[in-house]
Amino acid sequence: MIFSSISPPCGACEWNVAIVGLTSLRLATRLQRRRRAKNPASSARKIEPRGDRAHPGRVRPMRRAKFRLHNLSPIKRNRCFMSNDPNHTLQNVEDDCKISVQAKYRWPSIIFISVITVTTLVLCPLYLWHHGLTAAEIAFFAFYAFASSFSITLGYHRLFSHVAFQAAWPVRLFVLFFGGAAFEKSAMAWAALHRLHHRHTDTDRDPYNIKRGFFYAHVGWVLIEGRPYDYSNVRDLARDPLVLHQDRHYAIWSHVSGLIVPLLVGAWIGGWMYAILFPVAARIFLVLNSAFCINSIAHTFGDRPFDSKSSARDHWLGVLLTNGEGYHNFHHRFPGDYRNGFRWYHWDPTKWLVWTLSVVGLTCKLNRVASETISRADGRTDRS
Ligand SMILES: [Zn+2]
Ligand SMILES: [Zn+2]
Repeated sequence: MIFSSISPPCGACEWNVAIVGLTSLRLATRLQRRRRAKNPASSARKIEPRGDRAHPGRVRPMRRAKFRLHNLSPIKRNRCFMSNDPNHTLQNVEDDCKISVQAKYRWPSIIFISVITVTTLVLCPLYLWHHGLTAAEIAFFAFYAFASSFSITLGYHRLFSHVAFQAAWPVRLFVLFFGGAAFEKSAMAWAALHRLHHRHTDTDRDPYNIKRGFFYAHVGWVLIEGRPYDYSNVRDLARDPLVLHQDRHYAIWSHVSGLIVPLLVGAWIGGWMYAILFPVAARIFLVLNSAFCINSIAHTFGDRPFDSKSSARDHWLGVLLTNGEGYHNFHHRFPGDYRNGFRWYHWDPTKWLVWTLSVVGLTCKLNRVASETISRADGRTDRS
């Protein structure tokens, strides 16, 4: 008996003592429950992170994350552990879960994308049917569209995100001005996301992860709240005062280059209706979707000659729609190369523009991966 050491030797007394003992045990349990109800933090089970032998201070992410995430639904919990990335630390997992739980629609982006889409697909054809376009109107529209598009592919992507070459300040100013006109955020914000995309391709940390579907990779990621912009991977870009100024005053840059200038010049050339429909709405629609195709088409259709594990692919349609960015499997394998189409005959207008600017001294230090390295990665021995 439990209480034999403190109870008298008679049997009835033994029972009395046992009953008293059980009652006090119940009372103690009730008191403990009440205390927990009043102050849950004091009674919560504490699990301390344990380091491993090689890294004594390092948190073991999955063990602790599982404890913290026990109150999430199974779908959200699975979404948090989708990544196979070894760098997917506790902080990453928690960040992802915050995003999953807090994800909500970005209504300004939804309205903006909807308006320019309907305007381009419905109102522009009606205008063309009734009025047509003069040569000057076509020329201004084409100039503004190509200037914006090349500013993204040559400037935002290859120059700022990958530092695949260096450019003089007039080139940087040009791509920052017309890149802002594309309404794809500042060069620093764009590069921060794109570097994340390259580092965490096809994982939950990829901002436009193709595993979440074609629509999500194309435009869906723009329409819902993502994680807050983290500039820790673009500190090098902050050394450029032009880039920094465009980032800090992005609203002014984008509205001047994307709305005010095309509206005023367009109205002077072809009237207000032309200015609204073509240099503004249709141009933004085309340039945005051209960039979006790199995240959707270039991660869905085509071949993977250089890296069969990545979803990035080479496809002629992506190449044509994106100024040569569609050699995406090559680009993911060798992101530092200023070319995406590495052979001389590959359709890559961005590469040709960078090279042409280098001839006149406006760009320099063009990075090229050695042909032997490319051939080894390609598994072939022939060279261009
Ligand atoms: Zn990609
Ligand atoms: Zn890239």
